[in-house]
Amino acid sequence: MKIALYPGTFDPVTNGHIDIIKRASRLIDKVIVGVLHNPAKKPFFTVQERIDLLKAVTSNMENVEVDSFSGLLVDYVKQRKIDVIIRGLRAVSDFEYEFQMALMNRKLNPEVETFFMMTSTEYSYLSSSIVKEVFQHNGCIDGLVPDVVIKAMEKNNYKII
Ligand code: ADP
Repeated sequence: MKIALYPGTFDPVTNGHIDIIKRASRLIDKVIVGVLHNPAKKPFFTVQERIDLLKAVTSNMENVEVDSFSGLLVDYVKQRKIDVIIRGLRAVSDFEYEFQMALMNRKLNPEVETFFMMTSTEYSYLSSSIVKEVFQHNGCIDGLVPDVVIKAMEKNNYKII
């Protein structure tokens, strides 16, 4: 049984993330969506809120689990016996950072392999930060994130992004 980890901030989960999760879950026995707990970042949603939203939007995907981790990704990978890390690529601008991360992770643990999945064209411009920015200025975010995320954002909108 092959286990994949799809790590990220997911602040919040977007339809672009969901597309990657769905496509990965068709190819791999089990996909763990790992919410990175990074105290240095000032997130819009708490880790628990991000986990709850991810759980709600993946509840119909049987082989998808949602978890959180902190510290080094390679330590979590070892602990959960993960075979492969999945990352999404939207544009050339993603490449440099992803390349650096993948090579550093391999240096830290030579057995760790990273698979990259190309975005679907309709989500290629989509990121959590652009969704938050549009939302902050009262723009329409329908179709970019699931309805449950829109509701949670409306509830949280007293927060300064
Ligand atoms: P991070 O802060 O680790 O980049 P994100 O939550 O922003 O976390 O993204 C997690 C992963 O999903 C990254 O590999 C990112 O490139 C990918 N991703 C984000 N948005 C999209 C999208 N619209 N299409 C494909 N992949 C995406």
